[in-house]
Amino acid sequence: MAVPDAFLTQTEALQLTDHPRFLQQLAQLNGKASQLTPEQQWHLRFMNAWEAMYESDYAKSGALFQDVIQHSGNPYLADYASALLMSQFGLTRHYTEAFELANRLAARLPQITDAKVHLKLLLNLSASLGLAGQTDLAIRYAQMAMSAVPVGGSRCYPASMMAEALYYGHRLKSNSPELLQAVADCPAAKEPVYNANLQLTLADLYVQERRPRKALTLLDRVEPNLDILGDASYKLTAMLIRAQALAALGDDAVAKKVALVVVAQNKSGDFDAWLKDTYEVLYRIEKKQGHAAAALDYYEKYAALDKAYLDDVNARAMAYETVQQHVLAQKLETENLSRQNALLRMRQTLDAKTAETNRLYLALLLMALAFAALWMFRIKRSQLRFKKLSHLDGLTTVFNRQHFMGEVERTLRLLEKRAGTACLVFIDLDHFKRINDTHGHAMGDEVLRQVVVVGKQQLRPADLFGRLGGEEFGILLVGCSHGQGMAIADRIRHAVEATKVECEGTVIAISTSVGLACTGVCGHDLRRLCREADAALYRAKRGGRNRVEAGAEDSIPIAI
Ligand code: GH3
Ligand code: MG
Ligand code: MG
Repeated sequence: MAVPDAFLTQTEALQLTDHPRFLQQLAQLNGKASQLTPEQQWHLRFMNAWEAMYESDYAKSGALFQDVIQHSGNPYLADYASALLMSQFGLTRHYTEAFELANRLAARLPQITDAKVHLKLLLNLSASLGLAGQTDLAIRYAQMAMSAVPVGGSRCYPASMMAEALYYGHRLKSNSPELLQAVADCPAAKEPVYNANLQLTLADLYVQERRPRKALTLLDRVEPNLDILGDASYKLTAMLIRAQALAALGDDAVAKKVALVVVAQNKSGDFDAWLKDTYEVLYRIEKKQGHAAAALDYYEKYAALDKAYLDDVNARAMAYETVQQHVLAQKLETENLSRQNALLRMRQTLDAKTAETNRLYLALLLMALAFAALWMFRIKRSQLRFKKLSHLDGLTTVFNRQHFMGEVERTLRLLEKRAGTACLVFIDLDHFKRINDTHGHAMGDEVLRQVVVVGKQQLRPADLFGRLGGEEFGILLVGCSHGQGMAIADRIRHAVEATKVECEGTVIAISTSVGLACTGVCGHDLRRLCREADAALYRAKRGGRNRVEAGAEDSIPIAI
């Protein structure tokens, strides 16, 4: 038959409140172990570990706790087992392990969600730090435990832990509110173990405060209940305090008797504080009674245990310091590492930034270069345009006189080298003054433009066309013989004559007189060509206008 989970939980709750029943139920559970679910089996193993620890069978409890921590997969049990293992390390004087585990568990505290385990851990941390002589930290954990008690939960454990921390720090008095609070929070009926502990602490404080009678009265009340706790140390502690109280009252005989019972029940090899104090009681009694040899014997035993005790206190403090130094070193190493990482990250960021800046500079440089190139291109283009414009006549856009003459000269030089031919043609509009006078200057300009358009249509790409001034134009017909030149010149004259420029409904009659001189007769000398063309033009005018005349040495004039 299945065992309900509630039975296990209820059994666990009996651990300190009713230890005999706990043992009984634990035995039952162990008998039915095969019927338990795997989860329940881990819980049982945990309770067996707890019991082994309670019975001081630390080898057994240690192995079981480790098993639960490593293999149960149950965070509640694992954390709880860790908290107990930490205490066990303290009890077995494995202080380094205890404080290492304390550090690990303290770091894990925020992740522990189970209220019971959280509380247990705070309590055990308080105990471990008290053990390390770190009273302030022990008190702090006890305070945290106090405030971690769930609503309606018992404040007994944290209150006791607080009293214990103060006691081990030598800050507790019989009337300390923390002690009175703990006694109130741990009634004997419900919390017999903790209550017994607190009562014994109170009795001890009475002795320390030289109130032995009060101590004895309290012990009379408490001692009968100690037997059922299942741990002989309570009884022995009570007897020690009784011996101390009796010795303080001068009842040496009874005090000695009680103290000797404590010694007799001592398991060899133990050096618990109460045994040391028992020897001290015996030593003082023997000394007081003048039994020097016995006194010395007890003193030696006392001194040996006291030394062992002090060594142990030192060992705890040393272990604590070692662990803290180790933690500090690890922290420093981590900090150093993270500082190095930060430095590395910073350097990487810086490198990336530098690369980015370089890219930016490069982009800026390229932009500046592109801008400069564009600028230079534009300047060059406008320079070229200006240059071109400076070569052209503003009204007709053919070459101006200067450029035309320059180009003619250059072309003649080339033609001369190649023995090429050319004809220079001078054109003068007939009675242009009259056109201006009749139709206005603007109309005269329009006539000039039209004459150029018409003239260009008769030319080839290699020919040069320029305005020599006013209504006079010059053309160099490249590669032309005299005959070809005459024909082209006449076509021009004819085309101009055929041009109809209209002005307010009337067609303006235009005609030109043309003079021509060719290299065949005049050679490649510009001045001579000009002279001959000019003379021919003059003759055309004299001959009645609207005609083409060739240079004097050239032949027959072409007339209408
Ligand atoms: P001819 O037949 O003898 O050549 O008579 P003409 O009137 O053409 O003679 P002339 O050479 O004396 O007159 C030229 C006129 O051309 C004088 C001037 O007013 C005019 N002229 C010169 N340059 C321009 C110009 O750019 N535009 C206009 N509309 N008229 C101009
Ligand atoms: Mg003229
Ligand atoms: Mg004219």
